[in-house]
Amino acid sequence: MAIRLDGKQLAAELEARLRSCIAARLPTVGRAPGLAVLRVGDDPASGVYVANKEKACARVGITSLGSHLPAETSPAAVLAAIRDLNADPACDGILLQLPLPAGLEEGPLLAAIDPDKDADGLHTLNLGRLLKGEPGPRSCTPAGVMALLARHGVELSGRRAVVVGRSILVGQPMALMLQAADATVSVAHSRTADLASLTRSADVLVVAAGRPRLIGAAHVKAGAVVVDVGIHRTETGLCGDVRQEEVDPLAAAISPVPGGVGPMTVTMLLVNTVVAWCNRHGLAHGLDDLIP
Ligand code: NAP
Repeated sequence: MAIRLDGKQLAAELEARLRSCIAARLPTVGRAPGLAVLRVGDDPASGVYVANKEKACARVGITSLGSHLPAETSPAAVLAAIRDLNADPACDGILLQLPLPAGLEEGPLLAAIDPDKDADGLHTLNLGRLLKGEPGPRSCTPAGVMALLARHGVELSGRRAVVVGRSILVGQPMALMLQAADATVSVAHSRTADLASLTRSADVLVVAAGRPRLIGAAHVKAGAVVVDVGIHRTETGLCGDVRQEEVDPLAAAISPVPGGVGPMTVTMLLVNTVVAWCNRHGLAHGLDDLIP
């Protein structure tokens, strides 16, 4: 049976670390870090995500500065809200919760976020910084995967990694981070021929295809480390992109769904915010090991 890459437990450990990082610097800075989650409209799943992020902020001592705008808010008004947050000295991180209501184009709005306050790490400049190996906020989900692998001592240097999925949100930054850690990386996507023979070459397999239970025993080499980024709500409960019951007996380690990558994504949002807060005040943050 595979070792569980337990994101819930690691998230709790990292929250404790963030809490003491903030507490130690609070007297010098004179204010807590601030994270603004900007929600527009009433997408029901977003409501749950935003509430989870705000609860996580409260646990570590980050002030939530979020606002909830009505679905019919004009693009100019959303842009104005982002600019206000860019200029707000109490705000260190900004996150525009997606999806946006119909009629609002996400590209120009995401681009308007100050890259140094980009808590999601998805601004074009920050993806460029990742590509070049420069410091900056990192995309939360793949950064969370890297922390999970590091925590469990998974060796990456010289090993073969396969990422299934090439989205800007997960697959692409994941591949860059694994490569920066000296893995030899291949990226699979919906047009990849013979997916199973590629994934069977992986020592480390990260699956972010958004396809419920796509990956089974035939896709995985014995002894591989498997990270399941997918999350799907089905009639029988939550599942990932991996048929866990098939892969578990042959993998060396596997991330569960739920409780694997999901909690780490939220934690990395907090990490980006605390790092930005320290940077803005010229303080060392001591969190470099969490910035892939
Ligand atoms: P996405 O934008 O839909 O991208 C999916 C990627 O997988 C695409 O590149 C697609 O290829 C590829 N793909 C689809 N079907 C495939 C197949 N049969 N074989 C190989 N590749 C295939 O999804 P995403 O935003 O990256 O998210 C992926 C999954 O992770 C989703 O289930 C999402 O809910 C989950 N997720 C979880 C977290 C978390 O915190 N746990 C965070 C983010 C995302 P093409 O490029 O060719 O279309």
